[in-house]
Amino acid sequence: MRYHQVIVVGGGLAGLRAALELNKRNVKVAVVSKVHPLRSHSVEAQGGINAPLGNHPRGSHDSPELHAFDTVKGSDYLADQKSALRLTEDASERVREMEHWGVPFSRTTDGKIAQRPFGGAGFPRTCFASDKTGHVLLHTLYEQCVKYEQASERGEMVVYDEQIVTGLIVDDGVCHGVIVWDFQTGEIDVIKSEAVIFATGGAGRIFGKTTNALISTGLGMAIPYWAGIPIKDLEFVQFHPTTLFGTNILMTEGARGEGGFLLNNEGDRFLANYDDSSKAMEVAPRDIVARNMTREIMEGRGFEDEYLHLDLRHLGRDKILERLPGIRDLAMKFVHVDPIEAPVPVQPGMHYTMGGIDTNELGASRVPGFYAAGECGSVSVHGANRLGGNSMLETIVYGAIAGDSAAQYVLDGASGKTPDDTIFEDARKRELSRLDGMFTGAGEENPADIKDELEETMNRKCWVFREEKTLQEGIEKVEELLERYQNITLNSTGLRVNFDLLWALELGGNLAMAEVMIKGAARRKESRGSQFRTDFPTRDDDNWLHHTLAYYTNDGPRFDSSEVDLSIWEPKERKY
Ligand SMILES: Cc1cc2nc3c(=O)[nH]c(=O)nc-3n(C[C@H](O)[C@H](O)[C@H](O)COP(=O)(O)OP(=O)(O)OC[C@H]3O[C@@H](n4cnc5c(N)ncnc54)[C@H](O)[C@@H]3O)c2cc1C
Repeated sequence: MRYHQVIVVGGGLAGLRAALELNKRNVKVAVVSKVHPLRSHSVEAQGGINAPLGNHPRGSHDSPELHAFDTVKGSDYLADQKSALRLTEDASERVREMEHWGVPFSRTTDGKIAQRPFGGAGFPRTCFASDKTGHVLLHTLYEQCVKYEQASERGEMVVYDEQIVTGLIVDDGVCHGVIVWDFQTGEIDVIKSEAVIFATGGAGRIFGKTTNALISTGLGMAIPYWAGIPIKDLEFVQFHPTTLFGTNILMTEGARGEGGFLLNNEGDRFLANYDDSSKAMEVAPRDIVARNMTREIMEGRGFEDEYLHLDLRHLGRDKILERLPGIRDLAMKFVHVDPIEAPVPVQPGMHYTMGGIDTNELGASRVPGFYAAGECGSVSVHGANRLGGNSMLETIVYGAIAGDSAAQYVLDGASGKTPDDTIFEDARKRELSRLDGMFTGAGEENPADIKDELEETMNRKCWVFREEKTLQEGIEKVEELLERYQNITLNSTGLRVNFDLLWALELGGNLAMAEVMIKGAARRKESRGSQFRTDFPTRDDDNWLHHTLAYYTNDGPRFDSSEVDLSIWEPKERKY
């Protein structure tokens, strides 16, 4: 049985930043990741990271307060305001720290970090490295971790990759470690610890049409949910306006920030025809642009009733090559369109889960010793709609904060309780027999069929526009799939490199989070941010200005609510 003072589950931006903070405080930390950290989904992030640096001539008066206000307004007033302000107060320091660690940001002519316009921001605030910002941030953080893995002056830092966390050890209401499946050796092990931080990313793969990687399944949210920790606001799903038709690979918002146009089949910049986007046009917030694109397609002004055009041609070859080379490559490889010469076919696609594991403003959950940060968590800074560029910022700001909180908890003596070794050994044996049961059972259901049907259901029943009837149909289907999941059969047995078992486990997480999401969407009878109910088309602050909390029970989620921190700005109508 291994032991580390703190275990960070996840090697993406949030996990690595948390690990560095723990290491800085000389706390012994291990990062556990199901893929090599550099294959974490953060590596795909394209357009940039927000900070009120004031480097752009139009934004020289920027401040944390202005950035926080844009964030809160963008969230449709569901963000916790002090958390949003902390995000923006720490932003410049965290971004400069990344610069000093070596991130090759794109530059202004006078050598400062360049900033580009993004949706919902008062003026250009998004720092970027062409359209490969996540790639360079993740590589830089990983470099720092490798450096401290080898450095003797700081506490121990270990990275375990291709090890999958399948469960939490919670005893007497306190978290004491995780259960880990080593994918290569097949061993099921327990890692004991004083604290655990989950930084397991999003749950995009609940849907078929998504920008998210295959690994973003939601299992990392489901594990704490099953252990009794509530999931907050999961009904709020961000649909990114511009995903490549056919594959749903992201075409960064930076493309519109740099001046790209969205056109319908009449060659019209249609965003001008809608009140909520006529002023900001292509840089209106994502929820608004995705809705207006969907309306255009539904009303017959799309191409093949499926997509619209993202036109970058007028930006010119040089700008596309300098600022948007990554999406040019993707468009050329996947749809054989060179954006220098022709418009790119795009449609809205699932992109981001605003909600996640419920934590307070320090990243702590209500179970002592358990923390969460990054996309899997909800502190909550994004509320009902996230602004582009704020997610990577959240990973490094709240990754550091969660790392610091966990370090303090450990240095203060943690829970002071040390469970008997039998607790760990029993948990290990239970997990072994659960996994064994998954491939020795006499089921008939193919998990891949369940996955396909789930993705199709969520695409059709829990999409950009929602209403009671279709949501209820979706709920019935998800419940049926959950039943059928109890009866699955796997082709491959054994625990070594068993992808069948891996995907079956991930599917359990997919289904659990899909149930929370769609039931939460049906329960919330209003339109706010990314959740648009055609049967309740307006925001209803009197009845719904609160967070949704979902608790696991054997009979499905039990819903409750919690207050939104509105201590700084009074909610107003959201106009752009
Ligand atoms: C295509 C794309 C482009 C984006 N562009 C931007 C952008 O320009 N700006 C912006 O602000 N945001 C952007 N985002 C959003 C942002 O990139 C993500 O929200 C953020 O990077 C998530 O980081 P994370 O550290 O929380 O999780 P991830 O980077 O997803 O990392 C999750 C980690 O958890 C590990 N893990 C998960 N489950 C387990 C388990 N059970 N056991 C062990 N390990 C586990 C994985 O191996 C991985 O290391 C983009 C998102 C996408 C999909």
